[in-house]
Amino acid sequence: MSNRPGTSGLIFKEPQLWDKSSEGRCAVSIPRTDVERSELDKKYVGDAPDLPQLSELDVVRHYTRLSQWNFGVDSGMYPLGSCTMKYNPKTNEVQAARQGFAGAHPLSGEEFSQGALKLMYYLEKYLATITGFDAVSLQPAAGAHGELAGMLVIHAYHAKKGKQRSKIIIPDTAHGTNPASATLCGYQSINIKSGEKGILEPEAVAAVMDEETAGIMITNPNTLGLFEDNLKEIAGIVHEKGGLVYGDGANMNAIMGVVKPGEIGVDVLHLNLHKTFATPHGGGGPGSGPIAVTKELEPFLPIPRIEQEIDTYKLVTDCPDTVGRLHTFYGHFGVMIKAYSYILSMGAKGLKDVSTYAVLNANYVKESLKDTMNLPYDQPCMHECVFNDENQREFHITTMDMAKRLLDYGFHPPTVYFPLVVDGAFMVEPTETESKEYIDQFIDAVKAISKEAETDPDKLKKAPYLTKVTRLDEVTAARKPCLRG
Ligand SMILES: *Cc1c(COP(=O)(O)O)cnc(C)c1O
Repeated sequence: MSNRPGTSGLIFKEPQLWDKSSEGRCAVSIPRTDVERSELDKKYVGDAPDLPQLSELDVVRHYTRLSQWNFGVDSGMYPLGSCTMKYNPKTNEVQAARQGFAGAHPLSGEEFSQGALKLMYYLEKYLATITGFDAVSLQPAAGAHGELAGMLVIHAYHAKKGKQRSKIIIPDTAHGTNPASATLCGYQSINIKSGEKGILEPEAVAAVMDEETAGIMITNPNTLGLFEDNLKEIAGIVHEKGGLVYGDGANMNAIMGVVKPGEIGVDVLHLNLHKTFATPHGGGGPGSGPIAVTKELEPFLPIPRIEQEIDTYKLVTDCPDTVGRLHTFYGHFGVMIKAYSYILSMGAKGLKDVSTYAVLNANYVKESLKDTMNLPYDQPCMHECVFNDENQREFHITTMDMAKRLLDYGFHPPTVYFPLVVDGAFMVEPTETESKEYIDQFIDAVKAISKEAETDPDKLKKAPYLTKVTRLDEVTAARKPCLRG
């Protein structure tokens, strides 16, 4: 296993804190109180809660050990397709932790929040420039929340025109959250298939687009990692029948600085700040899914909006056509600070480089592995590429077996069995932040595992071996989850 990250080493077992508890141990070194407990205390505070009794070292080891069971992009490559698990420079975290920002409170009022408001105002402007739109709302808290906000805007637009519509066109290469968001707005999803090249054909859209259809939701680049070349023509077809085009821009790190969705026919777009703009994705932390819209749709944006008046910034709620408020205050401010800091520290050229490297890296993986794993859509990709296990099937080895074995080689597995359009999908998104050396290690690992599929399939079927827990019974794990560790 030379030249591979590897996963062996000292990985400790760790019981629950209650099991480590030992009468009389204490991690706090302040003196015990020498004041008698008062009657009131006894009545209202009661006895001390039944917490484990631990020394300082017990506590430090406990949390350090748990943290070592974790895997993150700071530990190694995390090539989850459709997730953009890239490395985010620490400087952005430092900016977000600055006292003036971290100590800000939304109830302190506009007068005492000018810096925060200014940052949000300019972040909206930057995002509008990057995407090619006229206005942005930072309020939605996640990508899917942005989709909901965007669909509400489309809904409000049709309502204002005097006639609501009932359907939305959604291609099979859209992200799974798209039909969910459309359904939440009361629209019926009309699924259409992408063409042979893995992208949408204008004819397929023309065949279903009618005046009952509110619009189309297009993920671009789509979940096959392919650019929707016909987007402009498709937008023309949808607009001609009075519909609108929703763009899912979660994959913006493939096209930043290269293509502006607002210039190729998209009317509403959401971004994932927690993918493209420097907040780590995953782990359940706060996210941010701003939406960008054309001038025509600006009146429908969520409130409050931020306006600039000479040198002051204010929150405006007097917007008669707004879809309303979608979050308390103004969304997840900490994520916005990181995005703002990232955009300024990268600059225009840096952001373009991000996309260029993301695309280069994915194409490098694609070309390097296409003789090892089957590549259903063999053409230039954007930020991710999708293989499947067809070459390994004769040895009865599946995508799942390959993914599990990657853990032994020290890699977080890529996304598996998604997108659904590819049977047994193995979807790799290396991201722009991995160097050639790391990507080469990953490529070598997949090649070595594919060799093992031929030479030792029985071993592969039981992988992983070096991880803390080995192959799980996934069905039982899902049906009877053991949540107590
Ligand atoms: C991640 C993603 C989403 C959903 O974003 P969340 O923040 O997880 O809700 C939507 N569309 C695409 C293409 C994505 O990759």
